[in-house]
Amino acid sequence: MEREKKELSTIHERDIDKLLENTGIKNDFLAGKLHCKFCDEIVNRENVYSFLPESGAINVICDKPECVTELLSYVEEKKKKITEK
Ligand SMILES: [Zn+2]
Repeated sequence: MEREKKELSTIHERDIDKLLENTGIKNDFLAGKLHCKFCDEIVNRENVYSFLPESGAINVICDKPECVTELLSYVEEKKKKITEK
């Protein structure tokens, strides 16, 4: 039985354009309407660190060291939950 497999992955710069197109958030991104999941700062091409696809939505993470750290522990936490099952 195929369990719902939600690969938790982060996406880096070279994939940004493709991802923006595919998810339909390109306009919001270009318009500066996307906020960092952790610090709520507006994320644009200058300060984007990563995208985190999650339950049908795309979270964006800025490149502040504390947000990057937070992202890493967040992803770890998620992984733990998945493997605990
Ligand atoms: Zn941030």
